[in-house]
Amino acid sequence: MKESNPTSGLPSVLKKLGAMTAIRDTFLVEQSLLRTLGPLLGVLETSFYRMEDNGQVMRAVHHSLKVLEENGAKRVVDNTEDVTNVQAISEPMRNLFESVRLLGKSCCRRYENNLLICYPIYGKSELVGYFVFQRDREVTPVEDAIVQGVLEVFTNYFDLLDTSQRDQLTGLLNRYSLESNLDRLWSILAARQSNKTDGSEQRVVKPECYWICVLDIDHFKQINDQYGHIIGDEVLIIITRLLQSSFRQSDLLYRYGGEEFVAIIAANDLDAARQALERARSKIEQFDFPQVGKISISGGFSCADLSVLPQEVLNRADSSLYAAKNAGRNRICLYDDLVAEGVLKAVSTGSIDLF
Ligand code: GH3
Ligand code: MG
Ligand code: MG
Repeated sequence: MKESNPTSGLPSVLKKLGAMTAIRDTFLVEQSLLRTLGPLLGVLETSFYRMEDNGQVMRAVHHSLKVLEENGAKRVVDNTEDVTNVQAISEPMRNLFESVRLLGKSCCRRYENNLLICYPIYGKSELVGYFVFQRDREVTPVEDAIVQGVLEVFTNYFDLLDTSQRDQLTGLLNRYSLESNLDRLWSILAARQSNKTDGSEQRVVKPECYWICVLDIDHFKQINDQYGHIIGDEVLIIITRLLQSSFRQSDLLYRYGGEEFVAIIAANDLDAARQALERARSKIEQFDFPQVGKISISGGFSCADLSVLPQEVLNRADSSLYAAKNAGRNRICLYDDLVAEGVLKAVSTGSIDLF
């Protein structure tokens, strides 16, 4: 592999850092970090592992550059893979993470014919992930200083972005980030569709479907009127925690409006999605809220279907929520069931003409 000279690459690093901070999307910023550090270290493959609150690694972003030769012409292929719900991490990698976590600094291990090098990534003073790459030689002091500097800029900027995408009261993702995440979800669905049709192998088994659910607290206005806004806010926080504990870490939960939430649930089939939502509904129904007592929620959900626009799937979930309210509240309704029962009319607007 070619020796890299990190100081001669400084102007380009600064340019890339500038580009990175111009991006207003946490996912893209993570990818951009890998695109910045790979060339700097003279490596073609870099990875970023992000941990969730429970300390388990849940997401991995892998970036690779491949030089392909086609008809005598060279072409560089830039590939990024975002793996949510990471199932298995190899033993050497796990041991390396553990050393980095305990020592609080970068570590290096022999791995096959190379060195496996890992840097800790800190969010607001706590460890949030790891930056990993393989190389045939150790990191020089100059490279080390630059990598640490880039990681610091990255974490500061990432925290700022993350804060702007979250709701202050509950800490959940906000409506703004829902819109961009729905677009991303549709891109994932489209990529999966094209993988299926071109017969290429997929490295990870991903859930077959995503379900979009709108949830709304029943008679919340009465709670505010009777007990005041502070208690109302407390109820919102407790409900948030109950919802979070009902869904998997990899599922996404948003505060959509005042007392409305949106959940994006990854599940293999309808039954699994329905079970997760029922678990949430029943947990809330059974919880004894301080002072207030019993509270329920209603919800409506629909499958994220590539042939329908994201906003239309959200509308379907929303109409199903209102059907759940009309049917007596404290229930979760599926759009397809409501259409089959004749409660809702199938909407044909907003569909995407794929072919
Ligand atoms: P339904 O069962 O039909 O959903 O009835 P509801 O009373 O929950 O519905 P409605 O939309 O009439 O009332 C929602 C209330 O949520 C109105 C507002 O006072 C309250 N609300 C919205 N945002 C907040 C907030 O951030 N904090 C508090 N405490 N209340 C909020
Ligand atoms: Mg409401
Ligand atoms: Mg309500």
